[in-house]
Amino acid sequence: MAPAQVSSGRGPQALVREEIRALQAYHVVPPEGLIKLDAMENPYRLPEPLAAEMGARLASVAVNRYPDPTGRALKARLREAMGVPAAHDILLGNGSDEILQIIALALARPGAVALAPEPGFAMYRLSAIAAGMRYVGVPLAADFSLDEPAFLGALETHRPALTWIAYPNNPSGNLFSRAAIERILEAAPGLVVVDEAYYAFAGGATWMPEAGHENLIVVRTVSKLGLAGLRLGCAIGPREWLDEFEKLRLPYNVNVLSAAAGDLLLAHRAVLEEQTRRIVEDRGRLEEALDAIGVERFPSAANFILVRVADAPRAFEGLRERGILVRTFHGTHPLLAHCLRLTVGTPDENRRLIEALRSILG
Ligand SMILES: *Cc1c(COP(=O)(O)O)cnc(C)c1O
Repeated sequence: MAPAQVSSGRGPQALVREEIRALQAYHVVPPEGLIKLDAMENPYRLPEPLAAEMGARLASVAVNRYPDPTGRALKARLREAMGVPAAHDILLGNGSDEILQIIALALARPGAVALAPEPGFAMYRLSAIAAGMRYVGVPLAADFSLDEPAFLGALETHRPALTWIAYPNNPSGNLFSRAAIERILEAAPGLVVVDEAYYAFAGGATWMPEAGHENLIVVRTVSKLGLAGLRLGCAIGPREWLDEFEKLRLPYNVNVLSAAAGDLLLAHRAVLEEQTRRIVEDRGRLEEALDAIGVERFPSAANFILVRVADAPRAFEGLRERGILVRTFHGTHPLLAHCLRLTVGTPDENRRLIEALRSILG
């Protein structure tokens, strides 16, 4: 057979949708032995006895069988672990990324708009465009608070079917004003999805009790809690909404090993909660240390801190040369000029981060 002719009428240039060809794939730098402070992972492994118990539990799983398509046991566990009110339903996702995709697919009527504050989580734009929606980003204020008049104006102008709000926001780390979000919920002509990926670090701030409101869905994940590798997320909201989304969920989207591990580890969630408590304490120490070396930083209710330095590309490279991987946002949005996002690591990793920053910036 002749080699593929990319320029032919049967190649991707001719056949893949233009808006997909214009996208950049979600970019992840390979860690290659670096201290990984780039992806908001919990830096702690499971304690050995719990890891062993998980091994035994996974060994008993019938991998020859398809998962329970209803996910009933796992949903019950999530309900208990996340305090989901009895009146609300749960939709299971292969990570919350998949939930975002399902919601966008469901709402992508011809011409429909998805709207989100920017800078925000990259997957909102990506999943909206992939679903065929028009995406509109509304700039935050310079301190990363919601620019409420601009946001309400954008709701009026673009009439979005879907509005994303990350609470706390990524990459800025702050919680938007509750009162502003309440007014957005009132004014929004469509569905509002509040993404609580960082709820474990936000001191109890949540919209979970309000998730029964007719146009509010709350999205959660166990990733930032310490189980990023499981790929397990969920949406919580009124049954009328989730019944529609359920039609788009692939029947076996959460595999049997993730479901079994998630069930066991959430039953032992005190271990994870202890780890997240330490991360919140260490976030405070890291903030103090950043202040002490004179690094501009923004308030965080998450497990990362956004900072601004004089020369972000140079600082990023300097950190990498010293064995530390962070995330640079320089060049991705005007409000993020010379910004780096630092995930809170172990005390030792944080100490090495501060030493490296001191020598780079000093
Ligand atoms: C990390 C993150 C997610 C993705 O979580 P997964 O469950 O791992 O897919 C969703 N939303 C925000 C705002 C995030 O930062």
